[in-house]
Amino acid sequence: MNKPTINILDPATANLIAAGEVVDRPAAVVKELVENSLDAGAAHISVEIIRGGLERIRVSDDGQGMNRWDAQLCLLRHATSKVSSPADLNNIRTMGFRGEALPSIAAVSKLEILTKAADADLATIVRAEGGKLLEVTDAGGPSGTTVTVTELFFNTPARKKFLKSVSVEAGHIHDVLAGIAMTFPGISFRLVNNSRLVLWTPGDGNLINVLTAIYGQEIAAKMLPVTFSAEGITISGYTGRPDLYRSSRQWETLAVNSRLITSRTISSAIERAYHSLLPQGTYPVTVINIEFSAVNGESPVDVNVHPQKKEIKFANEKAVFSAVYRAIDLALQNQAIRPSEAPSGRLSEFVKKENEKKENKPAMNNLVDAPADVLLDRPVDKSHGEAMIYLPPSSMPTAWESASTYGHVPPPAPEKETGLIPLGQIDDCYIVAKSAREQGLFVIDQHAAHERIIYQRLYQNSGRIPAQQLLIPPVLRFSGREAEVLTENADILEELGYKIEQVGPTAVKLLELPADIPSGTAENMVGEIAALLIKSGGNSGENAPGMLRHAILQTTACHAAIKAGERLTLRQMQFLLDELAATDTASTCPHGRPTIVRISSDSLAKLFHRT
Ligand code: ADP
Ligand code: MG
Repeated sequence: MNKPTINILDPATANLIAAGEVVDRPAAVVKELVENSLDAGAAHISVEIIRGGLERIRVSDDGQGMNRWDAQLCLLRHATSKVSSPADLNNIRTMGFRGEALPSIAAVSKLEILTKAADADLATIVRAEGGKLLEVTDAGGPSGTTVTVTELFFNTPARKKFLKSVSVEAGHIHDVLAGIAMTFPGISFRLVNNSRLVLWTPGDGNLINVLTAIYGQEIAAKMLPVTFSAEGITISGYTGRPDLYRSSRQWETLAVNSRLITSRTISSAIERAYHSLLPQGTYPVTVINIEFSAVNGESPVDVNVHPQKKEIKFANEKAVFSAVYRAIDLALQNQAIRPSEAPSGRLSEFVKKENEKKENKPAMNNLVDAPADVLLDRPVDKSHGEAMIYLPPSSMPTAWESASTYGHVPPPAPEKETGLIPLGQIDDCYIVAKSAREQGLFVIDQHAAHERIIYQRLYQNSGRIPAQQLLIPPVLRFSGREAEVLTENADILEELGYKIEQVGPTAVKLLELPADIPSGTAENMVGEIAALLIKSGGNSGENAPGMLRHAILQTTACHAAIKAGERLTLRQMQFLLDELAATDTASTCPHGRPTIVRISSDSLAKLFHRT
């Protein structure tokens, strides 16, 4: 083989390579163009997309515009009006600074810029294709800039192949614009997808109005204000009440000096502040902007570390963590935390009836308090051998005599006998039980167990899930994107017991729910299903229909299940244990977490040094 020789790449090839770093998908193009509009001081920014941005992206603004000369120059690499010396890089206050976006976008598309500076008589049109300047002409038009990108990736088929479905790409664009809109409440944004207005914010400077426009009224009403300032760090925004939670971090919108970023440090500070207030595996809804003041003319953050500027570096991570933690903690403290919603599902109805009947009979939840704490804290986590996840055999005979020693546990119907006898409840979260036949101690997570029961009941319907018609169908409010994806997937949802009808750009009427699921939880439930659909790209996306079905049923079960923090009577506990034993895979919840843990007699003996 000949020794390879080094070539200097021609500019067209070099631009194509560089473009790959900046524009990997349509949403990245939208982000760059909108950031340019922000830097140009626009008050109104409008984005129109066709076919997920692959056919066309058009971003218009009423910013300062460009003169004829700049309109041509801006297509050259490293042409920027925002940075002129290395020192400028130490305190960047603009969104852009590298002069790379427009040449990168131009390299992989057919691009047209129509722009007019306020003091110019005429507007200019610049056309380029695959990075080549085709023509520059005069035109009429208002001040501001409109950039139109058609046939994105027309000359890079490899890149095009890696894109997801049109609706997934449209979803990414929606998320990018929603994020920017939440960071700039003083600017009015508009997103039009295939001629339909899907997002609009008023631009009146009031963040809560932006949240209402994007997330809907219900969520906005549950947001708590965040205001914090100390040691050069100012944090502002909103964070959700603890009863408002979601299954992914997608709902944490973080900005530093008004630049959207992702940051492990900031996310974990937020989540730490909520600590046990949220169910495990869920995340809060948060929108915050962190402003750092420059120290000696230098910013304590470096924004020049990521090709798409999505990550940044902090001079002092610890100070950032502590400020964010304190800010969120303060917001949560300033609000009296309301108890979580009423329980739901078949068990909940049972609980309700029981409570009505109860006549002041105290629940015996203190029988095993002290030892249970010791047991759960010590050997269980350290040695997996000592505590085992346990599935009670459903055929075990039951010794109801022993239960009756505790007073008011009536024998349940014989066909439901499980052998597990509740002794009490600890932390309003776990049921402590013994078995009629097996030795040892059993601890059951009440939420996980009930979730498993509901999931199983839904799942065993192989076809359509039986539904209940709602007498007064509630109108649920969502973001435009959520309402859209729900409507697009109405058929799949109907199979799963949810019948919906779109009644406005952000409103959906819920006509039917799966049988036995209480309507009080519908809003959060359907919202989460929308998030799932967006994430998976609907049934046409990368997920198999079976997986989508599982995920939606799982969400339904999780919302309808009795929560941690709810006090149960022994009768209610017995009912739950019996129902649990009747499920196929009683020992784990639909998320795969254990529902029952057994602590063997051997482990107990070891704890008390009996061996
Ligand atoms: P950067 O934003 O990093 O400077 P870009 O390639 O995105 O690089 O843009 C190059 C230049 O083109 C900008 O510095 C700016 O002067 C000009 N420009 C781009 N978009 C607009 C716009 N919408 N309005 C006014 N000027 C713009
Ligand atoms: Mg830019």
